[in-house]
Amino acid sequence: MERYDVAVIGAGPAGSMAAKKAAEAGADVVILEEHPRAGWPVQCAGLLGVRAMEVSELSHGSFVIRPVRGASVVSPGGFQITFKSDEVKAWVVDRRLFDRALLAESAKSGAEVRMGYPVTDLVREGGRSILTVGRGADRVKIEAEVVISAEGVGARIARSTGIGPPREILSSAQVEVPFEAEDPEKVEVWLGKKVAPGFFAWAIPAQEGVARVGLCCRENACEHLKSFLQSSPIRKRMKGGPLHLAMGGLPLGPPAFTVAEGFMAIGDAAGQVKPTSGGGIYPGLVCAKISGEVASAAALEGDASAARLQEYERRWRSALGRELRLGMVVHRMRAGMTDSEIDDLLSYLGDREHLIRMIETEGDIDRPSRVIRKVSPRIGLAGIRMARTFLRLLLDGDL
Ligand SMILES: Cc1cc2nc3c(=O)[nH]c(=O)nc-3n(C[C@H](O)[C@H](O)[C@H](O)COP(=O)(O)OP(=O)(O)OC[C@H]3O[C@@H](n4cnc5c(N)ncnc54)[C@H](O)[C@@H]3O)c2cc1C
Repeated sequence: MERYDVAVIGAGPAGSMAAKKAAEAGADVVILEEHPRAGWPVQCAGLLGVRAMEVSELSHGSFVIRPVRGASVVSPGGFQITFKSDEVKAWVVDRRLFDRALLAESAKSGAEVRMGYPVTDLVREGGRSILTVGRGADRVKIEAEVVISAEGVGARIARSTGIGPPREILSSAQVEVPFEAEDPEKVEVWLGKKVAPGFFAWAIPAQEGVARVGLCCRENACEHLKSFLQSSPIRKRMKGGPLHLAMGGLPLGPPAFTVAEGFMAIGDAAGQVKPTSGGGIYPGLVCAKISGEVASAAALEGDASAARLQEYERRWRSALGRELRLGMVVHRMRAGMTDSEIDDLLSYLGDREHLIRMIETEGDIDRPSRVIRKVSPRIGLAGIRMARTFLRLLLDGDL
């Protein structure tokens, strides 16, 4: 049987980063990915905040498509607010190339990459983990001191260790389509129960003349997306049929614990996704770095007990726990607002130039709590309405 210090399941962004950090710290690392190539199928709008790009440790490569400096947000009744900054706030990337660049870095650091290797089972024997990889006659067994699950939202192996599911899984669908963007450096967002109940719809300019138009909602994202694409503001801006369809689940709210004996879950497998925007790359990379460091240290010390791996749980929750908790409250409030409450809020903000300027300056899609803390005390009348909404949702048990 082959033996490693650390085995990582999944070569998405979180898995590649965890493997890189574990290998850099001196562990013998293998990444096991079920697909023959990384970054496929694409299930992403490819919008990365500037912090996410920094945390990726990649220099701007061919995966970067364009910068984003602003956004416009449209309410169900048609109120629109627009932000535009001189600074780059985010980057639109090609997720396939981004994932491959991250995987190449982990291989450079010494991690062994095995593509087309699905992990089908995990058992604990004599304090070590035995992974079954592949099916039928091609099955092999791999032994590891520490296993890191970076399996994505399904996370079958993580669930088999007792690590629970996220608090919510939203349904998401997106097409890449020839599209007339309002401004190629601005993303557009639509709110409202009819368009995307429980979340929002978006258009993100990608390559010249093409945008990623999609939405996320409680369920049946494909049906909602079909109606959205046929609605008049979108239909007349589409300049051809869809080029590519992406679908997937968006896990929100991490489970109570993300560590088991000899095992850690990271990224989507651990619900490490920003509930405000659905962005999982930034929190996934932050937590992956911590998991790689802890896994390597624990394996080299020969102590992969759940108690030893708690260091990962403590460190990632201290880095991002509050941000994700506040994001969850904001997400639940947004999801519980009526269409007229959303109209009221956007029309109020639209009339207050100083608040728009503040959002432009402080806005940070990777750390939304920063702008929420700055703007909330200053939203006067709308603040009172928001407090009423908060109270109503609290009393209804929706928060
Ligand atoms: C429509 C949509 C749009 C999104 N847009 C954005 C966005 O714009 N910005 C952003 O930051 N986030 C976005 N996200 C979220 C983002 O895509 C995820 O948070 C991110 O991909 C999570 O990375 P990960 O490494 O945890 O998991 P994944 O990227 O899902 O990677 C998991 C990997 O594990 C492999 N795997 C699974 N099980 C096994 C197994 N048993 N054996 C071997 N391999 C296995 C899979 O094949 C896969 O390669 C979006 C999500 C959706 C659905």
